[in-house]
Amino acid sequence: MHLNEASHDQLLRWEQDLAHRYADLQAAKLNLDLTRGKPSGSQLALSNGLDGILHGDYMAPDGTDTRNYGGLDGLPELKAVFAQVLGVQPDETLVGGNSSLTLMHQVLTFAHFFGLRRPDDAWAREGQARFIAVVPGYDRHFAICEHLGIHMIPVAMRGDGPDMDEVERLVAADRSIKGIWCVPRFSNPSGEVYSDEVVERIAKLGQIAAPNFLIMWDNAYALHALADDAPQLASLMAACRRHGTEHSAIIFGSTSKVTFAGAGVAFIGASRANLAAFRRHLNIATIGPDKVNQLRHLRFLPDLAALEAQMHKQAELLKPRFQLVLEHLRTGLAGTGMGDWTEPKGGYFISFNTLPGLATEVVRLAADAGVKLTPAGATWPYGKDPENTNIRLAPSFPSLEEIDRAMQMFVVCVQLASVRQKLQMRS
Ligand code: PMP
Repeated sequence: MHLNEASHDQLLRWEQDLAHRYADLQAAKLNLDLTRGKPSGSQLALSNGLDGILHGDYMAPDGTDTRNYGGLDGLPELKAVFAQVLGVQPDETLVGGNSSLTLMHQVLTFAHFFGLRRPDDAWAREGQARFIAVVPGYDRHFAICEHLGIHMIPVAMRGDGPDMDEVERLVAADRSIKGIWCVPRFSNPSGEVYSDEVVERIAKLGQIAAPNFLIMWDNAYALHALADDAPQLASLMAACRRHGTEHSAIIFGSTSKVTFAGAGVAFIGASRANLAAFRRHLNIATIGPDKVNQLRHLRFLPDLAALEAQMHKQAELLKPRFQLVLEHLRTGLAGTGMGDWTEPKGGYFISFNTLPGLATEVVRLAADAGVKLTPAGATWPYGKDPENTNIRLAPSFPSLEEIDRAMQMFVVCVQLASVRQKLQMRS
């Protein structure tokens, strides 16, 4: 039944019935976690072949002894593979350590305090820096800005990427806006893939924004399609080249959700000038990355075909988990007016919107019944979702059985919170 069509008596009976079901589920003393987007054990096991793959041969194809210091840029052969994923040239690629988030933190730290290419470009010299945060978005991006004291301005996500009219209006009017966070394919958490038109408009921002403006293009889910008809993403760098704005694009990726989440390799794609500048800063922080792990990855994933085969296996493990979450949402909530959700064709998340004002209550009800959800507000800068609606569901880590029980509980929590709110509004 649709919430708005229920009479007062029906709502009362509904509430009682749901409260019973909630208590029954609570008595089962669940201990389930739908919070972080971590690969499951079986996904990680797909890459166990990394262990021992070197067989004592530590020499890279170009003769580099990977055990030794040096090679700030990473192995050239690995650059050649991942340049194709980033949509840049191999000499526009740097292979780093195990985390793209670290590379993002470093790029912003260098740009803020030292100026990425020139000291005069340092954002901190110009006073308060601002950044566009596409919402809902990734909490760790927002945490980096907060850490550096960069003020975030939320801009809404549409079906095909950020609201570009708003982004263009903001950056043209305010030179203190120094960048934008984007997760352009299978956005975290809402799963959108930016359309070709949006990529083109983002590439043009460099023409209207402050000269030291950066597009933080976090393509973490570049390879993470769950459906054969998942949309492709246009190359940002190619678009920037057409518009003469390639110095504004910094592209990131990693194998965190391709091989091992804690022991993969991360990448940056950027213009040659930006990469040279980044290396100058990075050289102060490290003598070089873990090339032994890079060589393992090169042997394990020597080309794009090997990467695609690996991602196909990943998708086979993820698909049933996503389907099960969606099945619960459709069966329990479709047509009830109690919320809406995304049905992504890839990535790691499903984004759920409760009725206004209820996300915190749903998360609380679930927590009290042993189901941990991502804190309400986490997908917004400063943890403040003004409408208090968005909840990020991460189905990758739990087993199918755990998802089944957690989603039963989630649906009951959404229903209970919605019915109680309706009763309160009517009284
Ligand atoms: N970017 C996004 C959008 C993510 O969702 C994640 C992982 N949750 C990361 C970056 C982290 O990447 P890494 O492991 O390479 O630091």
